[in-house]
Amino acid sequence: MAKISINLSSGELEKTPESDIIIGIDLGTTNSLVAYIHEAKAMAVAGADGKNTLVPSIVHFDESGQVIVGNEAKKYLLTDPQNTIYSVKRLMGKSYKDVSDAEQYLGYKIIDEDTDSLVKIRVRDRFYSPVELSAKILTELKTRIEATLGQAVSKAVITVPAYFNDAQRQATRDAGKLAGLDVLRIVNEPTAASLAYGIGLSPDESKKIAVYDLGGGTFDISILQIQGGIFEVLSTNGDTYLGGDDFDRAIIDFWLEKYHINKNILIDNKKISQQFRVAAEEAKKTLSLDNQYIGRIGEWSCEILKAEFENLISPLINKTLNSCKQALSDAKLTVENIDSVIMVGGSTRVPLVKKTVSEFFNQAVNDKLNPDEVVALGAAIQADILAGNNKDLLLIDITPLSLGIETMGGLMDTIIPRNTKVPAKAGRQYTTSVDGQKNLQVAVYQGERDLVSDNRKLGEFILRGIPPMPAGIPKIDIQFILDADGILTVRARELRSEIEQQIQVKSAYGISEEEMARMLLDSIQYAESDMKIRALLEARNEANNILLSADKFIEQNKTILNEEEIKETKRLTEALRQSVEGDDKDAINLAMENLNTYTTPLAHRAMDANIGAAIKGKKLG
Ligand code: AMP
Repeated sequence: MAKISINLSSGELEKTPESDIIIGIDLGTTNSLVAYIHEAKAMAVAGADGKNTLVPSIVHFDESGQVIVGNEAKKYLLTDPQNTIYSVKRLMGKSYKDVSDAEQYLGYKIIDEDTDSLVKIRVRDRFYSPVELSAKILTELKTRIEATLGQAVSKAVITVPAYFNDAQRQATRDAGKLAGLDVLRIVNEPTAASLAYGIGLSPDESKKIAVYDLGGGTFDISILQIQGGIFEVLSTNGDTYLGGDDFDRAIIDFWLEKYHINKNILIDNKKISQQFRVAAEEAKKTLSLDNQYIGRIGEWSCEILKAEFENLISPLINKTLNSCKQALSDAKLTVENIDSVIMVGGSTRVPLVKKTVSEFFNQAVNDKLNPDEVVALGAAIQADILAGNNKDLLLIDITPLSLGIETMGGLMDTIIPRNTKVPAKAGRQYTTSVDGQKNLQVAVYQGERDLVSDNRKLGEFILRGIPPMPAGIPKIDIQFILDADGILTVRARELRSEIEQQIQVKSAYGISEEEMARMLLDSIQYAESDMKIRALLEARNEANNILLSADKFIEQNKTILNEEEIKETKRLTEALRQSVEGDDKDAINLAMENLNTYTTPLAHRAMDANIGAAIKGKKLG
């Protein structure tokens, strides 16, 4: 167990990386930003204008495939919505099924195949994963700080919401890797916010904190317990579709009603609709300071008083309090147990929000820092601690390389990511890929590369005696248990029959620090090609599954489909089969989408016909 870092230019191992700056990144739904420690103080980095530290999390692709990120990309939201991607954080680590309800909020195309595989976004004739899109935002932040510092940076701490699961955290790590960043740690946003306020920095501190985060489109409340320098998330709650944008919409509705303006104008005229949005946001921000807003939108003069605005938003704020109550109750605490309340997110600048939250928790809230920057500032502080610059803080042992198993197509599936605190325990459920499969081989690997063949094999075993079941039915739980000495126990268990098998390996055994450094260096150097291979293998796996079901589908529904439909389905299936033999993941995705689009209505019809037949066959009464 060790904390190691490498010098990217020389490839040498550095045990005391004081000289290297590690940056802190807040990769947000609406805005992202980067911060670092400058003269012992956390500072967010501004863009070329020297003022604006926020980079809108928006990516635009032009016809030639050129990418722009941030404010420049934001301009295309209205004029070129299909090619302007926003809110990609909502899609990280998610499958089509997970996001089907989010699609109505997004102006671009999510490829919806109603399957369990990870979402892709179609931009022109290319397919992008949320990881690739987030990497573009991270690259922009990396470029920004490199321009400010005049030197290259390669190490980062990135924050994620406390409720992010393993897949979402892994996706965030992958995005960092793809942007050429060695992600030393993924930190919870509320933890970072606490650190920014200096809470939890002393090892003998023991506190319970509420972090209230109201941004543009999302609301989160997290209850944390801090003890001995360790942050534990006791509970989280919130609303993924509640934020400052709703305040803006409430103002627009208020004006439409007050000035008897027909609602349809917002649907028919995008320019006016945008003008209303801009004016409403300006009104809201003005009312954070003044008692009245007077503005003009085309022919209309639009006014609103602070008291009117507060009336409009108080039901929305009350909704956030319900989440706070739930979070407290889940943490088995009451308001009296909370030692500090921290305000995060631009919308906490609204005075009524501050007042209501402060009354609810019965104490003054922490609101001195810029609420848009506090998470990034805290990430920079965490980065500084990792760099070893804050000697007072205890350093916890971490696992230096990721641990995982081999899955379909020779891909590495990481179960315990590198830099996880030890002891650690993590697991995941797998299933069989062939009908009646009796044995499952579990091969354990260590390393950062996407293909297991590029990683280091630690051991393998076979789980035997799985009762015969159709493919996909058995539930096989694989647990990784890493003890404080770096001994890894891997246990596989079929949940129905309870058969079990395990091995023990010493993960750090026989590997020199130089070798470890080389593995990390390779993972960065080959990140892009690895990602491409992974995307291709995943597309192929998915396509092969679809091909199997397409053949079955034609066979089973010969009588329901007409000749033309059978012919076209076969033609599209053949096209997919051919694309699978090639190396172009976009061609495979396109062929899958074509086949899927064509067969979905046929599948519905076949299902209806089969149900009809089943009912007919039953005797009634
Ligand atoms: P975030 O997602 O944390 O960047 O928060 C952005 C939200 O904060 C947007 O809805 C902004 O309109 C809102 N916001 C920013 N500044 C203010 C302000 N001065 N008063 C009220 N809301 C604000």
